Amino acid sequence: EWAERGAAKIIKEVVDPTTGELTKHVVKMGIKDFKFGEQLGDGSYSSVVLATARDSGKKYAVKVLSKEYLIRQKKVKYVTVEKLALQKLNGTKGIIRLFFTFQDEASLYFLLEYAPHGDFLALIKKHGSLNEQCARYYASQIIDAVDSLHTIGIIHRDIKPENILLDKDMKVKLTDFGTAKILPEEPSDDADGNPCFDLNARSKSFVGTAEYVSPELLNDSYTDSRCDIWAFGCILFQMVAGKPPFKASNEYLTFQKVMKIQYAFTAGFPQIIKDLVKKLLVKEPNDRLTIEQIKAHIFFQSVNFDDGSVWDDDPPE
Ligand code: ATP
Repeated sequence: EWAERGAAKIIKEVVDPTTGELTKHVVKMGIKDFKFGEQLGDGSYSSVVLATARDSGKKYAVKVLSKEYLIRQKKVKYVTVEKLALQKLNGTKGIIRLFFTFQDEASLYFLLEYAPHGDFLALIKKHGSLNEQCARYYASQIIDAVDSLHTIGIIHRDIKPENILLDKDMKVKLTDFGTAKILPEEPSDDADGNPCFDLNARSKSFVGTAEYVSPELLNDSYTDSRCDIWAFGCILFQMVAGKPPFKASNEYLTFQKVMKIQYAFTAGFPQIIKDLVKKLLVKEPNDRLTIEQIKAHIFFQSVNFDDGSVWDDDPPE
């Protein structure tokens, strides 16, 4: 079932135990080099399985996609985008790492960094809601990761708690770049932090998830990097309220609420976060805070986004 066809060439570093000398070998790695374990999750067009490297014992999450299904459902484009986006983002803080890709007759395999602490939705559900300190800790990682991907010229377009995984240190790892938009090399975020505009962004098909979709996509079928900022506003609200700001019994009613910006803060919602959410859940994208302005908001006053501490600090209790 896991028969190998495609194999990735990797450079393996070996230290001679007697001389201590480091030598580099080019080796081919394939699916046979991994032992498959429990199923970690199920996506709409993939399943994700835990895999352990036979030589090092290192754990990975392998996303398995059926070629036949991808072709039948016309999803090949999504997989290509996901691979390209993850390759461009490799090594970026807050983004899940893609180590290798393989294929065999039936499937495509993405060998991803394993995030053992589940997703952010499960964390919010487990605790009901997060206090101000925890909300600040996770919100600062999420916005910093979004900043990085926009700077690289990628719009995620489906940021939601299920797509935010928690790594071994309980830190944020954005995943699921299947619906991302990769912008042409040149015009990305400029030095002044202006949004990266997607000139070909008019799209008839709905991209994203109802509860986190931006009003401009619903009203004008228009989207650019500011849709990720809208989604960030929804997630920040959800961290505190325990539920997304726009939620109804079906997608149509949810869309109505989004278009009317119809949401209500829960009792005891901290004033400082309320102020930030109000400036993010703004209908007109031009009036929405930019990432630079978000980072300068008083809620993040104690956070230093420049010295790496957002990623180095341990999570709060
Ligand atoms: P969607 O239906 O949201 O488009 P998808 O097919 O793109 O899903 P993912 O969202 O990437 O698939 O993964 C599905 C599930 O598998 C996730 O919700 C998560 O529970 C689990 N999962 C994915 N990647 C990892 C990982 N790197 N480490 C641990 N679990 C993971």
